[in-house]
Parts: sequence; C-alpha cells; structure tokens
Amino acid sequence: MEFTREQMAAHLATLENRIGEACKIAGRSRDSVKLVWVSKFHPAEAVENAIALGATDFGENRVQEAELKFSQPLMAKNGERVRCHVIGPVQSNKLKKAAIVADCIHSIASMEAVEKLERVCAALPGNNADGTQGKVLSILFQVNAGEEETKSGLDVHEAEAFLAGLESRGASAFPHLRFCGLMTIGKNTGVAEDSRECFAFLRNLRDKFLAKGGVFKDFTQLSMGMTLDLEVAIEEGSTMIRVGTALFGERDYT
Ligand SMILES: *Cc1c(COP(=O)(O)O)cnc(C)c1O
Repeated sequence: MEFTREQMAAHLATLENRIGEACKIAGRSRDSVKLVWVSKFHPAEAVENAIALGATDFGENRVQEAELKFSQPLMAKNGERVRCHVIGPVQSNKLKKAAIVADCIHSIASMEAVEKLERVCAALPGNNADGTQGKVLSILFQVNAGEEETKSGLDVHEAEAFLAGLESRGASAFPHLRFCGLMTIGKNTGVAEDSRECFAFLRNLRDKFLAKGGVFKDFTQLSMGMTLDLEVAIEEGSTMIRVGTALFGERDYT
C-alpha cells in the first residue's frame, strides 16, 4: 500500500528530525545536505504527493521508470523545475535516454560511458550561456567503496587512477559534462556504523581531486547515505542523501 500524503508528511517530519540532528552533531547547516527522494517502484501519485510536500529532487535507478515519471517537466513548490537523478547503473545502450531525462547521473563508472555521454549530450538540444550548443549534464562517479561484489562502481583501488585519467584528458575534452563528485552505496550489513570508513574514503578522494581544479573544479558533491545510514553519511560529509524507504515506505517489487 502506498502512503497517503498525510502519512508521507509524518515520515518527512521524522526524517527531517534525523537529518537536523545529524547536521547538528556534524556542525553543518541543513542547507548543505540535499535530500533526493528515491521514488523507484512508487507510482506517479507518490511523486505528486512528494512535490506537494516540497520535494525538488527525485532519484530513480532504472532509466525506463525515470522516463515514465519525469519526461514531462514538473514544477516544484519553490518554482524550480523538478530534477531527476539517475542513481542506478546504466547500460551503454540506455545512456542517451538517461542523458535526456536526467539532470544528474550518479552511477558513471567507466571511460566508455563518459565518452559516450559527451557525444550524446553534444547532440542534444540546448543553448548554453557560453554560446555552445547541447545539453550540459552533471555526473558523479560511483565508487564501490564498500567493496561488495554485487555492487557496481569503480573499484576502490582503481578509482584514483581513473580520475587521474580524466584529468590528463583536460577540461576541453568534455565540454558537455560537469564532473560534480562521487557517489557510493554503504555496506549493506544493517549496521550504519559499518559504512563510516567507506564514506570517509569517498570524502578524502573527493577532496584530493577537487583541490586539483581544472576538470575537477565542480567536484564538490558526495552522494552517500540512504534510509539506514544517512546520519553517518552526513557526519562524514555527504552533500546528497538518497532516501526511499523512510519517505515512501517499503517498495513492492512484485
Ligand atoms: C533504492 C536506492 C536508494 C534508496 O534506498 P532506501 O534504503 O530505500 O532509502 C538509494 N540509493 C540507491 C542507489 C538506490 O538504488
């Protein structure tokens, strides 16, 4: 059963308390953490209810489902356009569709995907402030910091070399991509504290490349923390938490 708008409002209030408390402990402002509402497996009405409660950013892990819910522009309560984040792995043949529907893709983990996205975005409609054509897409690189076999993302031991490889190509190689930071999924042990080390690893990697400037001048984001481990993620510097269950309830996969 999907939540009613009232139930969702109550869950949002509880979640905001958790976020507020974690920000306080970490000495951070609430504004420094973006809430991405993970609406996967929930219907368009759930998205509508979330928008009524002030949601501006949604996460979907399958491109087709993202297209169904977010191809038509939606307006947030604050007057901004609602943003769609693709947070699941995207097969090469779906990258173009992902680039069209998404404002940000969190799950990029190969040079092939980066190169293909650059080509695809260059050919999409869009006039940019600097006079160039095409869509400028924000992307994050997913790192398998929890080192779990089932999770996708760059291997922790290869992530640094991968990023150094991008740097050596230079900013002019990717005019239609904005490299915004890193994403990871914490360890799925059911114990939030178990993810602290991989969240800290991600923060250190982000800091190291942000300091280089150039292609990494926008490398400010850390997408980490979900329903079970968002407090630890915020304490370790998360700038985007991806929350599904705590807002929408359990997903029905049947
Ligand atoms: C489903 C999903 C989430 C949300 O997880 P919850 O535990 O329901 O908050 C976050 N990130 C990714 C990549 C997901 O696939």
